[in-house]
Amino acid sequence: MATTRGEGFRQPIGLVGPFPSGAPAIFVDQCARIGGSVGMVACVGDDDFGRLNVERLRAAGADVSAVAVSPDYPTGSAFVRYRTDGSRDFVYNIAKSAAALIAATPAAEALFARAGHLHVMGTAFAIPGAWEITEEALRAVRARGGSVSFDPNLRKELLAQGQTAARFAQLIDSADLLLPSGDELFVAAGVDREAEAVAALFRRGVAEIVLKRGAEGSSVFQAGGGRFDAPAFAVEEVDPTGAGDCFGGAYVACRRLGLQPAQALEYANAAGARNVSVLGPMEGTGTRSELDDFIARTPRVA
Ligand code: ADP
Repeated sequence: MATTRGEGFRQPIGLVGPFPSGAPAIFVDQCARIGGSVGMVACVGDDDFGRLNVERLRAAGADVSAVAVSPDYPTGSAFVRYRTDGSRDFVYNIAKSAAALIAATPAAEALFARAGHLHVMGTAFAIPGAWEITEEALRAVRARGGSVSFDPNLRKELLAQGQTAARFAQLIDSADLLLPSGDELFVAAGVDREAEAVAALFRRGVAEIVLKRGAEGSSVFQAGGGRFDAPAFAVEEVDPTGAGDCFGGAYVACRRLGLQPAQALEYANAAGARNVSVLGPMEGTGTRSELDDFIARTPRVA
């Protein structure tokens, strides 16, 4: 097919969706489905996109009491463009959307006051107001003896902007559990060899590092010396969007529910693989029994 604009993009798939999405929403959906008690702070518009996301998370069992609704601004949205070479990029409408109005409402403060764990994602840097809330949540959860996990979900171009690098470093120093993907480990540690990067992050107080390796599976490293490697499940990758968020939601939920790292890694690998095998960023999230079933019938990559 001869095209001028859009050449190199997968055809003739056209427009698919809209799907509920957003890295934090995918994470929360997977946490809730696996049986974790989870809520999120966000802001959507008073429109169908906002309702699509909120209803989806509510149905999964998530606490959406701290998701505010703006009467004036539309829900933030993202389009994913898939190229024939397997790469993709994103077109966002966030800066002038309801998402940019995220603020520490009384409902958000009430959520922080009852949370035993805080999960922060790189999206905290994308929206100015989100950083203030992140700091408030860190203080509140820490003051109550809670733990913190951080998924860098890094857009490297953001690191050069304003205080992003300092905030990124602050989050690494605050985290008990880090979930980097690929070379985010090296960016986080400032060292480009895996073993040295892991050791450097342990010296900064991180207790557990879970490294996502895409179609090559994942590894968990513990400050006490434990290490587990899990090969990926052998699936056909239909849509890679959301794999890391789904993986993270499963891992954090399983650890919070008391599972050991190796078992949590098995569920996380399954959640990531299951999610890439269907279209839509969060259409593959699974309950614990769906993941058990997936694990039982899916071979590992040799
Ligand atoms: P991110 O989306 O953060 O870049 P990854 O691409 O590493 O994260 O995916 C997260 C996890 O999802 C991987 O560690 C793996 O367990 C699973 N996964 C991702 N892609 C595939 C794939 N093609 N086949 C099997 N599992 C996958």
